[in-house]
Amino acid sequence: MSTQSDQPALGVVVPLYNEEGNVAPLVERIVAIMERLDGRPSYEIVLVNDGSTDGTREAIRRELAARPNVVLVDLSRNFGHQLAATAGIEIARGEALVLMDGDLQDPPELIAEFVARWRSGYDVVYAVRRSRKGESAFKLWTAQVFYRLIKRLTKVAIPVDTGDFRLMSRRVVEALRRSPERHRFLRGMVSWVGFNQIGITYDRDERLSGTTKYPLPKMIRFAIDGITSFSDIPLRFASYLGFITSGVALLYALIVIGYKLLSLHPPGYTKGWASTIVAVLFLGGVQLVSLGILGEYIGRIYDEVKGRPLYLVRDIERSR
Ligand code: UDP
Ligand code: MG
Repeated sequence: MSTQSDQPALGVVVPLYNEEGNVAPLVERIVAIMERLDGRPSYEIVLVNDGSTDGTREAIRRELAARPNVVLVDLSRNFGHQLAATAGIEIARGEALVLMDGDLQDPPELIAEFVARWRSGYDVVYAVRRSRKGESAFKLWTAQVFYRLIKRLTKVAIPVDTGDFRLMSRRVVEALRRSPERHRFLRGMVSWVGFNQIGITYDRDERLSGTTKYPLPKMIRFAIDGITSFSDIPLRFASYLGFITSGVALLYALIVIGYKLLSLHPPGYTKGWASTIVAVLFLGGVQLVSLGILGEYIGRIYDEVKGRPLYLVRDIERSR
C-alpha cells in the first residue's frame, strides 16, 4: 500500500458529473485491472466531482474510506467535462496518466494494453472506437460527421472516432499543463503535443447507468470549440464568401448599368422588386454568417484574455 509521500507510478483520472450509480462499479473495475498489471505498479485513482447535484461526492467518499489509492478532487461547481478532466490531469501524480469517462463506456480493462504500449516507448496511447453500443443513430451520425469535419478543417492530425480515453506520459501531461487555453479540446491538444502516439481499437460499451451529459446543444458547443481551437478555416471561409458575393454583385451592377446606358429595360423591369429583394436577402445572409463566424472567434478571444482560472477546487481528499 502506498503512503502519501510515495509517488504512484500510474494515475487514472475520471471526471464525474452526476454519476452516483457508476462510481462504485467503476472503481471496482479499475482496481481489479490495476492489481493485475505486470509488476503491480503503484497507482492512484483521481475522481473529479464536477459539481454533481446527486450523490456522486458521497459515493466517492465511500470509496475513499473503503480502499487505498483513491483521491477525491471536489470542484467548486460544474465546470464541464473538459475542465474537470483538466483539473484531474493537473492534480494526479504518476509517470503516466490514464483519462477515462466515469460511466464505464470506456472499459478499464483496456488500461493493461495502454500500459504495455507505454512501456514499449509510446507517449500517448489513445482508444479508437470500433463500435459504439447503446447510442442513438443520431449521435452516431453526428459523431461521424464531426470527426471527419474536424479532420478536414485542422492542420493537426486529430485521429477520427477517438474520444478522450487515453494514456499520456508525464511529458505529455506537462505539455498540457503549460497550455492555459480555456476552450479546451483535449483530444486535439494531445495530438498537437506530438511525441510517439498510437491508437488501439476497442468496442465502446453502453453507459452503465444514468443519462448522457452531452445533449445536443452541448455537443454543438463542443464541436465549435474543437474546430475554432484548431482551425481558422471558418474565418477564411467568411472572407471567401464575401469575395464571391461581391463578385456576383459587381457583375449584376454592370449588367444593370449596361441596360441603363442603352436605355433598355431589363427583363422583368416592372417587377424589379423581386431581384432587389433576393439580392438584399442574399447579401444580408452572407454578412450575418460572416459576422457570426467573427463573433465566435472574438468571443473566444474575450474569454481567453480574461485569464480566469480554468477551474476551482473546493478540496482534495486522499484515502490513507
Ligand atoms: N462530465 C463531467 N462534467 C460535465 C459533463 C460530463 O465531468 O459537465 C463527465 C461525465 O460524468 C462522464 C464524462 O464526462 O464521466 C463523459 O460524459 P458522458 O458520458 O455524459 O458523454 P457521452 O459519453 O454521452 O458523450
Ligand atoms: Mg458516456
